[in-house]
Amino acid sequence: MASEAHIIGGGLAGACLAWRLHWEGVSFTWRDRDHLRRASNVGAGIVNPITGRKFALSWNFPVLLEEAKVFYTRAEKELGTSYFQKRRLYRALKDHRDEQEWDMRSDQEASRPYIGKMVSSQSLPSCYHYSAEIFGEVLQAHQLHIAAFVQASWDYMSAHYECSKNEAPIPWSKSYSSSLTFLAEGATHIHADLFPLEHVHRTKGDVLIIRAPHIPEDLMVKERFFIVPTSRREHFWVGSNYEHEALSDEPSQRLGEILREHLNTRMRCDFEIVDHISAYRPTTVDRKPIVGCHPETSQLVLCNGLGTKGASLGPWTTKTLLEHVFEAKDLPHDISLHRFL
Ligand SMILES: Cc1cc2nc3c(=O)[nH]c(=O)nc-3n(C[C@H](O)[C@H](O)[C@H](O)COP(=O)(O)OP(=O)(O)OC[C@H]3O[C@@H](n4cnc5c(N)ncnc54)[C@H](O)[C@@H]3O)c2cc1C
Repeated sequence: MASEAHIIGGGLAGACLAWRLHWEGVSFTWRDRDHLRRASNVGAGIVNPITGRKFALSWNFPVLLEEAKVFYTRAEKELGTSYFQKRRLYRALKDHRDEQEWDMRSDQEASRPYIGKMVSSQSLPSCYHYSAEIFGEVLQAHQLHIAAFVQASWDYMSAHYECSKNEAPIPWSKSYSSSLTFLAEGATHIHADLFPLEHVHRTKGDVLIIRAPHIPEDLMVKERFFIVPTSRREHFWVGSNYEHEALSDEPSQRLGEILREHLNTRMRCDFEIVDHISAYRPTTVDRKPIVGCHPETSQLVLCNGLGTKGASLGPWTTKTLLEHVFEAKDLPHDISLHRFL
């Protein structure tokens, strides 16, 4: 096992790697480009077992959730604060077909543990005007406060290892050409000459942050958009969309208006909009991570593609990746960068 390593990229992927190296007793440096509009500052951290219009069970979910619980519990013990919590999640079933689909999923063995009962909107908290009459209760939903967790991890690691923020991106070749180096750079393509990063797409999302003192703090609701808690008391996250051809990661006026309109029709209680934020998610075409060693320079390791589900994918992906790097275990083809070569 290497006694020293480097991580480039200070988002959630970098934070998961930092904890893994820390627990393995490997000393490391951690470097990050200070960029406000990164996915880890914007993501809601919803861990949702049931996704898409067909309410399918999210890929590898039982395994991902178990590893996420173990990982965040261990990190939280060292940090002394909780960032990962179980949440109530209700999603709108907009018509009879949705209700039938929900019913059908509740009969399937794989999805059964995650499909709760259907409830009338009248029995849900009265902070919203619900346009759907029926909602499905999602079981085993969780939430990671990504930005707060990543910041706390950075602060913690800075007290133990050499961590630095720079204005410009760090090029790998100049700094660490002979040591074990992890590139956890999210949707930036600076090292596209080394890895097939054309397969890491920039899927932009816009989000409004609101202050609303009367929404229950453990409740997540999805009716077209999600409204979910943030790590700040009385503050909620409202979003998001998936924009595939955005020309910039700056907040979009058009999306801001759509989200405002959504709030105006949905909110029954007082609220004020306090921020409009946005970022690119690092997504792949099959919605799975892209990780592995460079084919010729094996000490150079890619950890990317956490996409729309970083909170659940990060812990298991980094565990699997480090077992590959340190113990020569095979990487599952599903997440290996070799599937794109
Ligand atoms: C709108 C939105 C909603 C989301 N909602 C959810 C959700 O509900 N649930 C969920 O699980 N996930 C969600 N996500 C996704 C989640 O945020 C991401 O999967 C995760 O944060 C990606 O982390 P990352 O470290 O790969 O990338 P990033 O957060 O982008 O971090 C990469 C870091 O590397 C730095 N960097 C890049 N290149 C270099 C370089 N050469 N040198 C130095 N530093 C470099 C960047 O500046 C950045 O700080 C959402 C994302 C968005 C945008």
